[in-house]
Amino acid sequence: MKKAGIVLLVIQAVAVIAGFATHQSPITDLFTSDEAGAALIGKLIGYFIPAIVGIILLRKAAKKEREAAAEPSAAPASSASVASSGVCPKCGAKVEPDDMFCVNCGVKLH
Ligand SMILES: [Zn+2]
Repeated sequence: MKKAGIVLLVIQAVAVIAGFATHQSPITDLFTSDEAGAALIGKLIGYFIPAIVGIILLRKAAKKEREAAAEPSAAPASSASVASSGVCPKCGAKVEPDDMFCVNCGVKLH
């Protein structure tokens, strides 16, 4: 999603540069052409569709990333700490990483 947005923005940038280089850009038409305003605006919107879609995709990707970052980690902290520390998260007694319950206080470890 993010990559697609960046690719679309690059396509837009190339199209704008190429348009200026070849004097085929609707942006230059805006100043030189005697076309009716509405037709020219329609042309401009069509011209910038890659950028508009690219920005929408980038915004969606950024929103998804923010939501992922805000979400608390799915795994409960206790099971992770049991695996790494080898002690009960509740009473601190020594437990085996694959124990289902603490042998001292009986708290569920996994
Ligand atoms: Zn315990």
